[in-house]
Amino acid sequence: MMKLLKIRILAVLLMANMSFAEAEISQATITDLCIRVAGKLASVTLAECLEAELSYNGGRSVRGFPIGVREFSPISEHSSIGKILLIGGIHGDEYSSVSVVFKWLNQLKSGYNGNFHWRIAPLMNPDGLLRRKSVRVNAHGVDLNRNFPTPNWLLTATNYWFTRAHQNPRRFPGPNPASEPESQWLIKEIKEFQPDVIVSVHAPIGIVDFDGPPKAPEKLGELHLYMLGTYPGSLGNYAGVHKRLPVITIELAHAGIMPSKQEISDIWSDLEVYLEKKITDSPLQQAVKDHAGPS
Ligand SMILES: [Zn+2]
Repeated sequence: MMKLLKIRILAVLLMANMSFAEAEISQATITDLCIRVAGKLASVTLAECLEAELSYNGGRSVRGFPIGVREFSPISEHSSIGKILLIGGIHGDEYSSVSVVFKWLNQLKSGYNGNFHWRIAPLMNPDGLLRRKSVRVNAHGVDLNRNFPTPNWLLTATNYWFTRAHQNPRRFPGPNPASEPESQWLIKEIKEFQPDVIVSVHAPIGIVDFDGPPKAPEKLGELHLYMLGTYPGSLGNYAGVHKRLPVITIELAHAGIMPSKQEISDIWSDLEVYLEKKITDSPLQQAVKDHAGPS
C-alpha cells in the first residue's frame, strides 16, 4: 500500500517536473502548488501542504499558480468574535513566512476553538517563491507590498521608488496601482471578507509592526513592537492607514531559519490573546455587547 502511494507520488512529481517550465503554468491545481512548495521548503512536507486542505477561490499568480486559501468558519455565527485574514509569503524569498503560516494553519486544524472566522493564505506570491532562485517580487518583477492603491499612488509610489529606493528592482511598485493579479486578489478579499484584523507575515527584521487604529500588540512571542513607518503602496498603508483596518505585520527574525517550535507556538498564543482583547474592546463590539446586555 505504502509502496503504491510512493509510486503515485513519484509519478505525480515527475509529471509536474515535465509540465512546469519556468514560464507559463496556466491552470495549476492546489496539488501542483503543494508539490512545488514541498520541493522548495524543507520545513513544509507534501503531506503537510495537502493536509492543509487549501482551496482555490479565484486568485491566481501571473504564472498561473492558485493562491491557496483555507477557511475556518466560526462554530456558529453568534459565537464568532471577529474575522481575521492571515497571509504569508507576499515576498517570495521570505521562506519562513510561508512555513510558519502552514504550522499555524495545521495547529488550528487540530485545535480550533471556533472563536474567530479565519481566512488563511499561506503563500500569496507563489511565483516569487517557486522560481529556481526565489525572489521578493512577483513574475512581473513587482514588489506586491508596494502595489496597493494608496492615495496618489502614481505620484508617491513611483516617486519613492526613484528617489528613496534608488530604483532598487526588489522594490519596484509596478506600472500602476493594483496592476498585479496577486494584489488584485487581496484587495477583493478585503472587500468581500471584510476582516476585522489583517495579519501579514514577513521576515527577517525580527519585530512586530502595526498600522491602523490602536492598539498595537506590544509583543508576540519574542517579537517586540517596533513601528517601521509606512511606504506608498504597502498593505499596511492601504488597509491600516487608509481603510482604518488594523494590520499586524509579523516580521520573523530569519527568512531562511525557522523559529523554534516553542517560539512559533508562543507567537500564535500571544496573537490569539491580543485578537480576543482587541476585537472585544473595539467600539463596534462594545456597542453590540452593550446592546445585548441586561435591559
Ligand atoms: Zn517582506
